[in-house]
Amino acid sequence: MDLTFSEQETAFRDELREWLSANKPGPAPTSEGEDGQYAWRREWQRKLYDAGWAAPAWPTEYGGRGASLTESAIYFEELGRARVPMAANVLGLLLGGPTLMVWGSDEQKERYLSPILSGEEIWCQGFSEPDAGSDLASLKTKAVKDGDEWVVTGQKVWTSGAQYSKWCMLVARSDSGIAKHKGLTYFLMDMEQPTVQVRPLRQITGEAEFNELFIEEARIPDANVVGGVGNGWKVALTTLMNERAGLGFALQIRLRQLLDDVIAIAAERGLLEDPLYADAIAELHVRCESIRLLAWKGLTDVERYGQPGPEGSLVKWLWSDTNQRLTQLAVDIVGPDALTVGESWSYELLRARGNTIEGGTTEVLKNIIAERVLGLPRLKVAA
Ligand SMILES: Cc1cc2nc3c(=O)[nH]c(=O)nc-3n(C[C@H](O)[C@H](O)[C@H](O)COP(=O)(O)OP(=O)(O)OC[C@H]3O[C@@H](n4cnc5c(N)ncnc54)[C@H](O)[C@@H]3O)c2cc1C
Repeated sequence: MDLTFSEQETAFRDELREWLSANKPGPAPTSEGEDGQYAWRREWQRKLYDAGWAAPAWPTEYGGRGASLTESAIYFEELGRARVPMAANVLGLLLGGPTLMVWGSDEQKERYLSPILSGEEIWCQGFSEPDAGSDLASLKTKAVKDGDEWVVTGQKVWTSGAQYSKWCMLVARSDSGIAKHKGLTYFLMDMEQPTVQVRPLRQITGEAEFNELFIEEARIPDANVVGGVGNGWKVALTTLMNERAGLGFALQIRLRQLLDDVIAIAAERGLLEDPLYADAIAELHVRCESIRLLAWKGLTDVERYGQPGPEGSLVKWLWSDTNQRLTQLAVDIVGPDALTVGESWSYELLRARGNTIEGGTTEVLKNIIAERVLGLPRLKVAA
């Protein structure tokens, strides 16, 4: 990956920078709760979409700009720099759309990609279950063929954004008589049916960002199978690799901003001269830079192999660990005010706890790095 921008890349950056400075949304609404915030992010996505900036990396035939990998990295860096919110349909844009582009039929691409981009139809990810998180392949939600439909029954958990979603990327067991990885199928489930119940789960932050899904004989047409019956494991891996790589890139920029904020507060309070704080800040700075460069390096894999590689796990691990250290340091610097409910640093501190779990736990990511990046022997679990 060449980190020097070409003339075209510089023009792309300048055009976006100019557009963002003219169109940046105002502050998030504070009085209308989570629904109000979500509506605000949805409106922001619509604005990006209308100007052709919702997903520039998508091919032009699907409504993107066919941006190069470098341009798409510039895109995330500029969004971060402008401190604008994430588009509402982040799972559709970064996970669902790219998965459909690899595995979807022409009809599926035609039907689903455009409303993902505009934010008209929100997507959620129905992978985890009460007894299947890290070990996703042991999931129990069952899909039984009935004519040209599938009847699905089971329970999903931690489903982020399910309360706003029209479609769920659902992995279910379509054959329980064969090896567990092989009996899975990837479906697009319509959330708007009475057989799908969404129950919010409240987090330590006070928000209910994720939910439980109770699915009782929901109907999914055969046409909504993605990548073929029994191929769900491979399709799900595409979604997960996009999750770790795509989100990783966006999040490392947010990390840098938070660190800049911490440095500003430390400077204001005269703490930069204190070796204890200076040392902690310097370490975080080095980590931020390493993560930024690793995220750029990850783009080289996409360039080479057409999709993100297992190294994305490294970015996700380091980012989540660094974000936890950073928010802890911020609280030490800000003091008791940062622990007051409703204060942004208290939110950041509490929300960071989930970072080492969501999108793959740190322990599991370390296993992936050990086995698939470093080539170390596979983990043996005692019987
Ligand atoms: C904020 C947030 C949002 C989420 N959003 C979604 C979503 O939208 N959709 C979705 O499907 N899921 C979502 N999840 C769920 C997430 O993917 C799972 O929590 C995660 O995969 C871990 O699964 P688990 O919670 O079942 O923990 P478990 O897999 O039961 O793990 C428990 C502990 O055992 C460790 N462990 C497990 N296996 C191994 C191993 N092989 N080696 C070493 N240690 C191991 C883990 O690291 C962990 O510490 C979300 C989670 C969070 C926190």
